[in-house]
Amino acid sequence: MSTSNNRDARSPARRQWLESGLAGLAGLAGLTGMTSLGLTGCASLGPSIGTSIGNSIGPSIGPSIGRVVVVGGGFGGATAARYLKLWGGNVDVTLVERHAQFVSCPISNLVISGQRQMADITLGYGGLQAVGVKVLRDEVLTIDANAKKLRLASGGELRYDRLIVSPGIGFMLDPVAGLAAAIDSGAVTHSWQAGPQTLALRRQLEAMPDGGVFAMSIPKAPYRCPPGPYERACMVASYFKTSKPRAKVLVFDANPEIASKKALFERAFKQHYAGMLEYQPNAELKEVSGRLAKFDFEDLRADVLNVIPAQRAGDLARSAGLVNVNQRWAGVDWLTMASTAVPGVHVLGDATFSAPAMPKSGHMANQHAKVAAAAVIQLLKGEAVDNSPVMTNTCYSFVSAQEAVHVASVHQYDQAEKTFKTVAGSGGLSAEASQVEGRYALGWASNIWADMLAG
Ligand SMILES: Cc1cc2nc3c(=O)[nH]c(=O)nc-3n(C[C@H](O)[C@H](O)[C@H](O)COP(=O)(O)OP(=O)(O)OC[C@H]3O[C@@H](n4cnc5c(N)ncnc54)[C@H](O)[C@@H]3O)c2cc1C
Repeated sequence: MSTSNNRDARSPARRQWLESGLAGLAGLAGLTGMTSLGLTGCASLGPSIGTSIGNSIGPSIGPSIGRVVVVGGGFGGATAARYLKLWGGNVDVTLVERHAQFVSCPISNLVISGQRQMADITLGYGGLQAVGVKVLRDEVLTIDANAKKLRLASGGELRYDRLIVSPGIGFMLDPVAGLAAAIDSGAVTHSWQAGPQTLALRRQLEAMPDGGVFAMSIPKAPYRCPPGPYERACMVASYFKTSKPRAKVLVFDANPEIASKKALFERAFKQHYAGMLEYQPNAELKEVSGRLAKFDFEDLRADVLNVIPAQRAGDLARSAGLVNVNQRWAGVDWLTMASTAVPGVHVLGDATFSAPAMPKSGHMANQHAKVAAAAVIQLLKGEAVDNSPVMTNTCYSFVSAQEAVHVASVHQYDQAEKTFKTVAGSGGLSAEASQVEGRYALGWASNIWADMLAG
């Protein structure tokens, strides 16, 4: 894989931008994942499993203890590949990712509002190579779990002792008539996988006349990043306030109410965007024709139509037989992240059937990855895995150009119920939006990008 154009988390330009987000942090403990966001109610990115895996984990010298292939270089896969090397130096780790660079969904709503550029959310895989991960730019077509090998789009095969897949999401387009064609033609964007779709939505907003209508449709939960759509609505409205003050933002939500940080978003809608932003619950999109959106109660022609489709586990999870819950998600053994459908394969991130109150977030995928990396090293060594892991989640959302809010939670493995449950009294929500949290949000992003990709 070429890394010549890759942006490095440590480059001077990136450092300058990141520092603007780090200014308010109480502590930054380096790039090894043990960063502290310094916020009341917010947990560190470092997993508590670090304490219980004790002496068994850590770089060591000697022959390889096994071959691990990781598929998907997003939040789950990149973190897993990096921590397999950091904690188990003599594990042979190959990451297979179809794209040349990582493009972050977190902060992508700020690209859509024009406050950031694509380059600010694009990072390379050079850091992973620096810690000893073999990075292969390719697409995995099939998994043969019996023979423990993968078939690649380039024609090659890869063998593994353990396989970790973090393939992200796939879209369920069929329930909305005409949606697949509208997205294919470029008339409608989803912008729910960062990359060309992010830029396409930004360009449409720039081209939209003042007085035009931006409409967005939110699918029924569960979907990737529960607060993400409401952040997007705020950021588009924030752009309109300064550049197209007569424009409208119409939010059609298939859910009965705002799915995350409800009171905080309601306050932001009223305080910053009254008269510009209208929110409609129980509004399920039925059909799309060009930029005409049809609901049971009305047909609406938008100037810019952004439809976030319903979601399921990514295609590879389906084709590999990993999807075994509600025909949508991959079930896992939460102690190891091992698939409950296919032996020897571990599944991370948005593709999994979430534990109770566990959101589909980049932060959560990062935590899944650390539990999996530790467990895979221990399984390869024939050791017992940690039986009481803890995971954390922190999710920031911008509600205006400068201000953000957060939600945080702590999830403890419950041995009786064999799943993660939230720890009573942990975590919480911002009392109100603030510019300080806006800086923390940027700091969070820089920290987690470093935690998954730094060399
Ligand atoms: C607008 C928006 C804002 C968000 N904001 C936040 C936030 O503030 N905080 C937060 O925690 N989360 C946020 N999220 C959610 C976060 O982006 C996802 O939860 C996270 O990306 C999930 O990680 P993942 O590893 O499961 O999937 P991904 O990060 O999507 O990674 C999947 C990777 O697998 C690769 N892949 C898939 N199939 C194959 C194959 N067959 N062969 C090779 N490669 C393959 C893909 O190319 C991709 O790189 C946001 C999401 C959106 C859309």
